[in-house]
Amino acid sequence: MALLITKRCINCDMCEPECPNEAISMGASIYEIDVNRCTECVGHYDTPTCQQVCPIDNTIITDPDHTESTELLWEKFVVLHHAVS
Ligand code: SF4
Ligand code: SF4
Repeated sequence: MALLITKRCINCDMCEPECPNEAISMGASIYEIDVNRCTECVGHYDTPTCQQVCPIDNTIITDPDHTESTELLWEKFVVLHHAVS
């Protein structure tokens, strides 16, 4: 499942440099997450690091429109990082 940044975002810039997949960038008015690059941190961390660093509770949430199994998130990680098993 990719994550989603809601309108609660205060553009504090904390999450963008922490994403291991470069999935976070500034959008039209608030930060956004690229669903094609977000692995929910699978392959890097045990929990989504953007949620860990965000100072505003419930700002970064799971995106109900982009549900993926852990297996699919691992496949996304492999493609993003050109990892060969
Ligand atoms: Fe990036 Fe991880 Fe947040 Fe997804 S969950 S946007 S991969 S930091
Ligand atoms: Fe917005 Fe949270 Fe990212 Fe700060 S850490 S830019 S409040 S989503």
